[in-house]
Amino acid sequence: MTTTFEEFETVDLFSSWDAKTQPIISIHNMKKWFPVSQQSILFSRVVAHIKAVDGVNLFLNKGETLGIVGESGCGKSTTAKVTVKLEEPTEGSVYFKGIDIFQPMTREEELAVKRQLQMVFQDPYSSLNPRRMVLDLIKEPFDIHFPDMLYEEKEARVLEILAKVGLEDYHALRYPHEFSGGQRQRLGIARALAIHPEVILLDEPVSALDVSVQAQILNLLHDLQKDFDLTFMFIAHDLSVIKHVSDRVAVMYLGKIMEMSPTGELFRKTGHPYSVSLLSAIPRPDPRIKMDRIILEGDVPSPINPPSGCPFHPRCYKAQELCSKVTPDLEEVEPNHYIACHFPEI
Ligand code: SF4
Repeated sequence: MTTTFEEFETVDLFSSWDAKTQPIISIHNMKKWFPVSQQSILFSRVVAHIKAVDGVNLFLNKGETLGIVGESGCGKSTTAKVTVKLEEPTEGSVYFKGIDIFQPMTREEELAVKRQLQMVFQDPYSSLNPRRMVLDLIKEPFDIHFPDMLYEEKEARVLEILAKVGLEDYHALRYPHEFSGGQRQRLGIARALAIHPEVILLDEPVSALDVSVQAQILNLLHDLQKDFDLTFMFIAHDLSVIKHVSDRVAVMYLGKIMEMSPTGELFRKTGHPYSVSLLSAIPRPDPRIKMDRIILEGDVPSPINPPSGCPFHPRCYKAQELCSKVTPDLEEVEPNHYIACHFPEI
């Protein structure tokens, strides 16, 4: 008989958290700026910052899937990396089950937080060590988080999780290069899932896969979410995928959240001009349906020197003088529907 993970827990950090009234994750004014340095013969000095994430506020409720959508470079992946403590924020805070995860912690507390926050990457091949067998790759999280667990039990758990993601026992003795793209993404999911996290951040998990394989992985994630009572943050640039998987959607642009609402509402009552233009680009399967596509002018501005006021104003079809002067706050315009715009469509 295998032991439960709770028997190995050495700290009780989250006892005051109430799943019914508090979000499992809440992010407050998170900023992540990367310094740009200029090198001389003797010195290096910081001359600017890339404002990858520039004041993000959002929350995740237990058991839901929050989709995050936006163009490349809008800060989606950096937001996810800070949320799982792979990066430190420049400013702001991230609460997981009511605990500020960047407050000073003991090693045991740090491990307790990290065990429950896992990430799946777009390219599983680069996140899986090609020199290690699958058995070792999936066993590694147990070695880190549960060093006292017996080897036989770790091995049994690896085989169990491989079966959960649709792989066979013999796959445990193979290396990552022996798998197809879809199978490698199953391995990435197995590694994230092995130690039973509460939240998984999925960073473009199907973008690099063929459409038929995408559907298999999305169905697998759906089943695993139910079986393991998981909460997902699902990052994608494809709005059709986001619509299919998410309970709520947050739209990002230049390091900020532009709009956040339940998925159905976002597609029915789109409020932010940027979301309107994104949605207008979704292909319709019926050619008889007339599309009023909004083509955005110009490129996404540089995150080193973002526009003043509303970051979307140089490309916005509704921009007025106020937009270039005052940054709109993310405000709740209808219950659970948040928009950062001076002149929303609703
Ligand atoms: Fe457009 Fe102004 Fe709204 Fe920004 S604040 S999205 S520029 S209307």
